[in-house]
Amino acid sequence: MIANEIPGIANSVWTATANPTPDFPALRGRAETDVAVIGGGYTGLSAALHLAERGVSVTLLESETPGWGASGRNGGQVNPGLKEDPDTVRVRFGVEMGERMIAMSGASGDLVADLVRRHGIDCGFAQKGWVQPIHDDAAMKTVSERVAQWTRRDAPMRLLSRDEAADILGSTAYQGAMIDERGGKLHPLNYAIGLARAARDAGAVLHSHSRVSEIRRDGAGSTIVTAEGQLSARRVLVCTNAYTGDPTPRLARTQVPVRSIQVATDPLGDDLRRSILPRGHSASDSRRLLLYFRFDDEGRFLIGGRGDYSERGVERQFAALRRAAAVIYPQLADIEWRYAWGGFVSITTDHYPHLHRLSDNAMTALGYMGRGVAMATAMGRELADWAAGTPAEELNFPVTPMRPIPFHFLRKPAVAAAVTWARFRDVWG
Ligand SMILES: Cc1cc2nc3c(=O)[nH]c(=O)nc-3n(C[C@H](O)[C@H](O)[C@H](O)COP(=O)(O)OP(=O)(O)OC[C@H]3O[C@@H](n4cnc5c(N)ncnc54)[C@H](O)[C@@H]3O)c2cc1C
Repeated sequence: MIANEIPGIANSVWTATANPTPDFPALRGRAETDVAVIGGGYTGLSAALHLAERGVSVTLLESETPGWGASGRNGGQVNPGLKEDPDTVRVRFGVEMGERMIAMSGASGDLVADLVRRHGIDCGFAQKGWVQPIHDDAAMKTVSERVAQWTRRDAPMRLLSRDEAADILGSTAYQGAMIDERGGKLHPLNYAIGLARAARDAGAVLHSHSRVSEIRRDGAGSTIVTAEGQLSARRVLVCTNAYTGDPTPRLARTQVPVRSIQVATDPLGDDLRRSILPRGHSASDSRRLLLYFRFDDEGRFLIGGRGDYSERGVERQFAALRRAAAVIYPQLADIEWRYAWGGFVSITTDHYPHLHRLSDNAMTALGYMGRGVAMATAMGRELADWAAGTPAEELNFPVTPMRPIPFHFLRKPAVAAAVTWARFRDVWG
């Protein structure tokens, strides 16, 4: 169970199978640091690790424990790149910045691989490739174009025919698929715990159970307030993503937290395992309301998709996921489902992650559109570079002004309407 989470979305397979989390005591009394990091998901942990590796004094404050947010609950699919394809990124951001963003996001899977290898992180990481099954003709066109644009940039991607896709997926439910060899899968909570250990071993100070209630300007720096302590810092990195709240209310209104949920079985028998994703790939399909599925290392089958805000709505969506699994894999029709959990992903209006300057000494990165395993790790490194002195213009992602979303308080009905519309288009094209 995920501690301090509402019971309806707390029964996570990752918590049940996690490595022990080191004891990072809460911040008590007064402390000083060069860089304060708020939030202990991949963004914050990667920032802390990269700063500590450069010898910068860094202290991370996490409300619960490292990986408590989306980073410890996700599908563990390491999917490089941005939601939009390279040519669109170039047009939107210009050739120079666009190419930097493309290179950085395209290499984000390799960054995860490098961190796992260098720090010996025990998270079952396997870079076998990310498979994107294609559900209809329109998606076939989009995905073919995606493959063409990335292969022009030498990315190891290719389109799979219907038969090749069926072979890799163990399902005939799709028209074809794309495979991106840069992608992979891992145990998401163990990756977060491993990053936390690596950051600590490199010299970062980490505090669990240290919810920040206020960030106060204090001369040239800031004072960060928790229930039992105060931290003075020269620079501040806010890494709270979809869980952004009280200390940065304006930032919270720049994105919409949307629930993503998953269900998982107990370990399946050998015959069933061999019939589904037989070569160990992870898959997330081409629907607007995408389905993502994979096995964990012990042979539990997991499938995830879009959730709901209300408890009853989430229950309905859990049931819909179990039905969807049986459509893709009819052999799962009578299987027992042991786990069901969820968390919040951060959605932005332009569908890009954002770097925002909160003040002259504070920066944030958020909005990974449910694709943050690789990108949050990469954006954490950008934040670390900035906090260590790299000018904002030299980062690999543009620093844009914060734009709070008008009528943000209407986000829940707006998301419900958008989900209904996306579901309609997924079915009717
Ligand atoms: C169910 C689900 C499935 C997903 N599947 C995938 C997937 O397969 N592949 C993929 O690439 N991405 C996936 N994602 C998205 C991915 O998990 C996120 O993009 C990524 O983890 C974001 O990392 P983060 O560090 O920015 O945020 P988080 O991991 O959410 O971390 C934010 C942290 O900030 C802390 N915090 C908040 N407020 C405060 C405060 N005031 N003081 C101190 N700490 C605070 C929170 O406790 C939290 O731990 C999924 C997400 C979910 C929820």
